[in-house]
Amino acid sequence: MSLRLRLTILYSALTGGILLVFGILLYPLVNLMLVSQVDETLHQTFYQLRTNAHVGSDGKLNIAGLADLDMVSGVYVQVWGVDGNLQASSGGHLLQPLDPANLSSAHPVYHDTLVQKVHFRVLTVPLVAGGRPVGSLQLASSMNMIYTTRQRFLVILAIITFISIIIAAVSSWLAIGQALSPLATVTATAMQISQTDDLSRRIPFRGSDQDEIGRLITAFNETLERLEQLFSSQQRFLADVSHELRTPLTVIKGNVDLMRKIGTADEESLLGIEEEADRLTRLVGDLLLETQAESGKLPLYFAPVELDTLLLEVFKEMRVLARERVLLKLTEIDQIMVNGDRDRLKQVLINLVSNAIKYTPQGGEVYLSLARVGENARLIVRDTGQGIPNEDLPHIFERFYRAEKSRSRSKMGGFGLGLSIAYWIVTNHGGRIEVNSAEGKGTTFCIWLPIHDPRKQKRPDGEQVPIQPGGNN
Ligand code: ADP
Repeated sequence: MSLRLRLTILYSALTGGILLVFGILLYPLVNLMLVSQVDETLHQTFYQLRTNAHVGSDGKLNIAGLADLDMVSGVYVQVWGVDGNLQASSGGHLLQPLDPANLSSAHPVYHDTLVQKVHFRVLTVPLVAGGRPVGSLQLASSMNMIYTTRQRFLVILAIITFISIIIAAVSSWLAIGQALSPLATVTATAMQISQTDDLSRRIPFRGSDQDEIGRLITAFNETLERLEQLFSSQQRFLADVSHELRTPLTVIKGNVDLMRKIGTADEESLLGIEEEADRLTRLVGDLLLETQAESGKLPLYFAPVELDTLLLEVFKEMRVLARERVLLKLTEIDQIMVNGDRDRLKQVLINLVSNAIKYTPQGGEVYLSLARVGENARLIVRDTGQGIPNEDLPHIFERFYRAEKSRSRSKMGGFGLGLSIAYWIVTNHGGRIEVNSAEGKGTTFCIWLPIHDPRKQKRPDGEQVPIQPGGNN
C-alpha cells in the first residue's frame, strides 16, 4: 500500500474518530437537555395546578382547569386520592395510573414509563393538606418528541461524519499527493543514477529547503556530490597509481630486455633495475601510508617528543643527502617539547627537508629553524631553490600533485605524495602547515605545533584537547 494511501486512510480515520468521539459525548448531553426541558414543563405545570387545587369539605381533592391545561401544554394529568381512586384526569379514558410504581411515593419523582405502547415522562407529586396526605398528582408528557429529536440528531451526526470523512479523504489525498510529489522525482533520479551510473545527476527542487522534503533532497544531493567526488577521486587515484607504476616497470622491463639481448647482466642495467625497484618500494610505502591516512587507519602513537632533538637528528641525516651540492644550515633551535608521534613527525621533517634539497639547485641554501612562539612551536624549512609557481601553490598538498617543472623531471621528483602525507600528519597533531614561495627565489614551509603542556594536554576522560595554534609567520 502506498504511503499516500496509508496517510489518506489515517487522516480519514482520524477525522471519523474525532467526530465519533464528539458524537458520543454530545448525544447524552443533548438527551439530558431534552429530558430536562420536559421535566421543566412538568414541573411548571405542577405549579400551575397547585394554585387551582383545593380540598373540599368532604376532604376530597378538587382541581379546576385540567382540560385547558391538556390543550395548551400537552401534559396529561391524573389526580389520585389516598384511597387509590382516580379523582380527576385531563381527558382520555386511561384508568390506570401513569406511573403505578411511584403512585404512593412520599417525594416528587420523575420516571419514564410505557403506557399503551407510548413512552411517557411522568412526574408524581404527593399532595399534602393540613399535614396529612390527600392523594397524589401524576403529570405525564409524551417522550415521542425526544425520541424523534434524538433519532434526527443521530442521523445528522452520521451524515456529517460521512461527509467529513469524504472531504478529509479527498483533501488529504490531494494535499499528500502534492507534498510527496518531489519524492517521486527523488525515486526517478535515484533509479536513473543506478541504471546509468551517472553520479553527476542532481534532483531538481524548487520548494523550500527548510521543510522535511527540502531537507531530504538537499541531503540526497549533498550525498550525491560527495559520492561523485569520492568516485572521481578514486578514479584519479587509480589512474595516478597506474601511471606511477608504469614508468619504473617500463625501465625494469627495458633493462631486462637489454640484458637478454646482450646475453650478460651488465652493471648499468642492474643499477637501473635496482633504482627503479627502490622507487617502486618507496611508492608502495607512500601509497600505503596515504591510503591509511585517508581512511583514518593510520595510527598515531602520541608521546612527549623533544622537537629540538628530532630536528638535530634530521639535520644530521639530511646533511649527507645535501653533500656539497646544497648548504644545509640550522639557524635557530629552541628546546621544545610537543605531544606527538615521533616517527611521523620525523617523516614530515624528512619530507620537507629532502624536498628543499631536491628542488634547490647546486650552490643553493636550505635553512632550518625551530622557535617557541607563544604556546606553539614554529618549525621553518626555507630554501633558495626554484620556488613553486603561484598556480601550483594551492594544490601542492593534494595527493599526487606535482608542479609542472617537477613533473617533467620525474626522475628527480617523487610521486607527489610526500606533502599530502605531511599535511595529514601535522593537522592530526592539532597543528598547521603553511607554504610561501616565490618562483626563482625559494620556498618556505612553516609548521605550527602546539607545545606539550602536561597540565592542560589531557582531559579527565583522557581525550585529547584540540589545540589551534596561534600566531603566524
Ligand atoms: P614529490 O615527491 O613530488 O616531491 P611532494 O608531495 O613532496 O611530492 O611535493 C609536491 C610538489 O610540490 C613537488 O612535486 C614540487 O613540485 C613541489 N615542491 C615541494 N617542495 C618544494 C620546494 N621546496 N621547492 C619547490 N617545489 C617544491
